[in-house]
Amino acid sequence: MHTTVTFIFFIYGLVFGSFFNVVGLRVPNGTLFAQTRSYCDTCQRTLTWKELIPVWSFLRQRGRCKKCKEKISLLYPIMELATGLLATITFYQYGWSEQTFLGLLLIALIIPITVSDIAYRKIPNKLLLFFTPLFILLRILYPQPSFWISLLGASLAFGLVFVIILLSNGGMGAGDLKYFTLLGFIFGPVLFLLLFFVATLYGAVTGMLIMKLKSGNRKMTIPFAPYIGLAALTIFYFGETILQWYLSFFS
Ligand SMILES: [Zn+2]
Repeated sequence: MHTTVTFIFFIYGLVFGSFFNVVGLRVPNGTLFAQTRSYCDTCQRTLTWKELIPVWSFLRQRGRCKKCKEKISLLYPIMELATGLLATITFYQYGWSEQTFLGLLLIALIIPITVSDIAYRKIPNKLLLFFTPLFILLRILYPQPSFWISLLGASLAFGLVFVIILLSNGGMGAGDLKYFTLLGFIFGPVLFLLLFFVATLYGAVTGMLIMKLKSGNRKMTIPFAPYIGLAALTIFYFGETILQWYLSFFS
């Protein structure tokens, strides 16, 4: 039973991943509800259902448009597969629980924001505004350990990132500030600090690798939201374990 449901989560994850790609690419330019079917970015041709099967279509067409043969962005299958796998892992790990619900909501927040930031260097306000009430509702229903801890987490996140933006001029923007604040609310102050540390660590390591590979183009800006998302997922799945491990050094 559990295996079957886990598999269903994977299939739904792939389909939702495909939808999150569309959300991430369309929300920033206000065309999400424009009623247009999915089309090829290059030749503008409307895609048939055979070209819209998550991951599979991309593999079958060897990553190219059927008609104009132009390359399709790797972002599509990667995000579809990521959503499928994350949904599967979440259900496999937490079963029917509020933790699974939180995980799925978190994936639904992170994937479109990551797509948006990679494609446009933007974290859409509309996405944050859509998800904030849902997370607030979730924390009212399932406070951990209390609603005030969540508010404290949000305040700490806002304060910390605000000061860093003031001191660093550039690097992080208002979008990152709002995104971090929401995550502070979701995770509370202690796990948020860990999340912030992990996000900057991911960003710094990747930044150094890119600089080495491209022999130091310092002017190049890197979207930061993907690291925030990756850090949030790390904390969601492993935060408590990391914290226990860290605290064991002091006991
Ligand atoms: Zn095309």
